Amino acid sequence: METIRSTFAPGEVIFREGDPPTTAFLIESGVVEITADQGGRPVVLSRLGPGDLLGEMAVIDDSPRTATAMAVEACVALMIDRTQINERLTQTDPIVRALLEGQLKRYRGALAAMQGKVSTQPAAAPAASEIAGIGKIRLESQLREALASRALDLRLQPILSVADSQIAGYEALIRWTHPERGAVSPAEFIALAEETSLIVPVGEYVLDVACAAITALRERGVGLNPFVAINVSARQLAEEGLIDRIVDRAVAADFSPGQIKVEITESQALNYPQVALVIERCHQAGIRVALDDFGTGYSSLAHLHELPFDTVKVDQAFVRQMMTQPRAMAIVRAIVSMVHGLGADVVVEGIEEQAELDVLAELNCRYAQGYFVGKPQTLDEILSRLP
Ligand code: C2E
Ligand code: MG
Ligand code: MG
Repeated sequence: METIRSTFAPGEVIFREGDPPTTAFLIESGVVEITADQGGRPVVLSRLGPGDLLGEMAVIDDSPRTATAMAVEACVALMIDRTQINERLTQTDPIVRALLEGQLKRYRGALAAMQGKVSTQPAAAPAASEIAGIGKIRLESQLREALASRALDLRLQPILSVADSQIAGYEALIRWTHPERGAVSPAEFIALAEETSLIVPVGEYVLDVACAAITALRERGVGLNPFVAINVSARQLAEEGLIDRIVDRAVAADFSPGQIKVEITESQALNYPQVALVIERCHQAGIRVALDDFGTGYSSLAHLHELPFDTVKVDQAFVRQMMTQPRAMAIVRAIVSMVHGLGADVVVEGIEEQAELDVLAELNCRYAQGYFVGKPQTLDEILSRLP
């Protein structure tokens, strides 16, 4: 990938209508006029100067130049390689890309109409990137709709206290039953909601339902005052007053804020000084904080040592393998021992059989979560199974 500086003399054509799109330009000095042919007469579409991009349109959608560019004053421009632009475009949000491609299509249509060119070609099929982007916009709107109509659903998955075989709490896991696609994994739609502020009302909804669940469990006289853990995404952590709102809801519903646990998944998107503040604020309010999915993704010992999490949740990836692979077992042992050394509790996720649970008991691991303990269930299912 090279960028080359080019100079153009006054009156020199930089590219002509119909040329293949080899490169775009960034004008450094001088003035460029863009003209298009209208009935054999050139019509000036725009004048560009220093700092303006030139000829990027045809590069973006890989079509012939729709206008002619000519230097009206001596001009210096940096050539911007098409791979440089294409690399950016492939990395960009598919929605932004679809918006851009839509605008380009419309612009080209308007230009053709102005030039009196009626296309006899059938409309080009949308590019794969455009289809993906539009699909994502559709899903996002449907998610907004689901939220407004309360079509999202919360499941509670029990968390077992290993030593005494009691249910110590539940993790709140969101579900979306999509009108056409059926159940959409939170792994897909939470990531989508996190890309926009939509995660904020989704989080509020989860908090509402989690509080209602705590109240319902208390009304049923569940002795241990089980906690309900909610997953909080990086974007929500940035919200002003997040913890105050949790505390306010708890106070309004007359239960201790300590019955809510906050789960934070370590990710590149986390702002660690912000996480430290959230943990501090949670601790002041008596709310415990868990580090979720430890051992995969972005797990970093530096963060673990600096941030006083109360609980570390070991990702199910290790548990899957620990019964058959001594190396996976060694990792689980080491994580449990390290987390205990830091004075925090361990939840091992993804427990699917008795033998795995036996290992946790042997390791003095405090909590177990997984299908063997219980699948994510509706509140009604949980209440109906209580003794
Ligand atoms: P997570 O917080 O690590 O949740 C545990 C996931 O493991 C859940 O998937 C749960 O259904 C699944 N799981 C639990 N036990 C077992 C088991 O024994 N075997 C197997 N194979 N899977 C098990 P789910 O519900 O699909 O959620 C995926 C992720 O989506 C969650 O991972 C969490 O990061 C995110 N998520 C779910 N609900 C919310 C939410 O309300 N807000 C936010 N921000 N994220 C959420
Ligand atoms: Mg979680
Ligand atoms: Mg997890």
